[in-house]
Amino acid sequence: MKFSKEFAAHLNQDGFPQQWVDSAVSYRKLKKIIKDAADELCAKGLDSSTLAQLLPAPAPAPAPAPEAEADASADGSRRGSGTPSIQYEFNGDKTEFTPKLTLLVENGLPVDGTLSPDTKRHIQNLIQQQRRNSDSSAIEEVTRGIPGAMSLDGSGVEQVEIDLKFDSQFFKTLQHELAVLEALQAGEQSALFKEIGTLSEEVTILAKPSKYRKTDMNRWRELFAIYIEANIFFSTNELDHGARNSATAAKQLDWFRSEVIKRNIPGSFKLPSSHKALAEFVKINRQLLLNIKFQEINHTAVYKIVKKFDKKTQLGAKRVMPIEMQPGSLMPENIAKAACAQLTQDLISKIPQAVDYSCPICSNIIWRPVRLSCGHQLCITCACELQHRRSRGCPWCRKLVVLEADSSYINEVLEKFLELHFPKEVAIKRIAVETEHGIQQFGITYKHPTELHWAARACTVM
Ligand SMILES: [Zn+2]
Ligand SMILES: [Zn+2]
Repeated sequence: MKFSKEFAAHLNQDGFPQQWVDSAVSYRKLKKIIKDAADELCAKGLDSSTLAQLLPAPAPAPAPAPEAEADASADGSRRGSGTPSIQYEFNGDKTEFTPKLTLLVENGLPVDGTLSPDTKRHIQNLIQQQRRNSDSSAIEEVTRGIPGAMSLDGSGVEQVEIDLKFDSQFFKTLQHELAVLEALQAGEQSALFKEIGTLSEEVTILAKPSKYRKTDMNRWRELFAIYIEANIFFSTNELDHGARNSATAAKQLDWFRSEVIKRNIPGSFKLPSSHKALAEFVKINRQLLLNIKFQEINHTAVYKIVKKFDKKTQLGAKRVMPIEMQPGSLMPENIAKAACAQLTQDLISKIPQAVDYSCPICSNIIWRPVRLSCGHQLCITCACELQHRRSRGCPWCRKLVVLEADSSYINEVLEKFLELHFPKEVAIKRIAVETEHGIQQFGITYKHPTELHWAARACTVM
């Protein structure tokens, strides 16, 4: 299927709001302007094969390489002196710029002496036409500063600017389309941020730690742990690290939703409002996915249309157009990055995960945390164990700070925080520590008095 048809099908069938469809890249319109631009160039004698002869050969560097030998060896058939006869560049910046085609002539002929007689005749006509149309300022007499000019026996080299109406129209239209898309993306991003902010307030209430009131803290924690594991929009895996495309993100979002249902998280909510908040959370993710999909197809459309422009005109615009206009400037991952950062900062991180507070020695929740002078923390029992073994290095950073720690190093603020947010994990760890002490004191048959009671509670309440 031709890309224009494929693009139109996506816009009509992928469930984008009408306002988005109206803001999409006008691929057909741009395609038509390309045809006009190619016709205009032809009318001036600059058809694609002539331009291919006149313009510098594609080089890895963005600017045309003026060095004669390098160019001649790269494509000797095109070059005589190695001086490009035509320069194509963009003047201005992101908001106001114009493509500019300049012809370099010497004694009324293009500086490249290898051109066919036919091309030379076209160019001569064009120069005469330009001279008639332009005032004297448009033709600038130069004898210095043009790469290669000095190699032409010091004779005068003129720059003749060639007016290209449709070429300018193409890039002005494209620039406008990109600005519209950028504005749409900015609007969508701030709408998503607002929704994330509202949801964050709701979830903070629903997941508020409390011993006496109903809370869905553990359900939301589990839900967010699955969400983190799903890596929906970005992968942290070594093999496919980075932003995901919309197809993979859609799959990951489906996995997240099915996993949440499989683990019966909605079924175990204690607060009815959690259902609504979960639906809102999924909606935000779907909306972000739709945004990425939309930016993705527009990104492809820009890439394809610029490629088509270069194919039909041979002007090599992609190499010289301003960086903001390059197809890469419209990256779908930008909105994904911004929205995911906001989701993490404003919502996910509001509910602490046990893994972020695990002890580097025993891997359980840090019990009665000891804060070493390097800033790292571990259980008091694990710190004591290290001291008994005369092990001096911090298990995280290896600084020799373990032996200096005493009871004044206990981080009571974190201890209270952990008891509040992870009552189950802290209780299990406390029983394990007390059981170990009991065994040391009373022998292997020792049983912690609350062990059975807690095990039962852990199953039914948590
Ligand atoms: Zn520990
Ligand atoms: Zn350390």
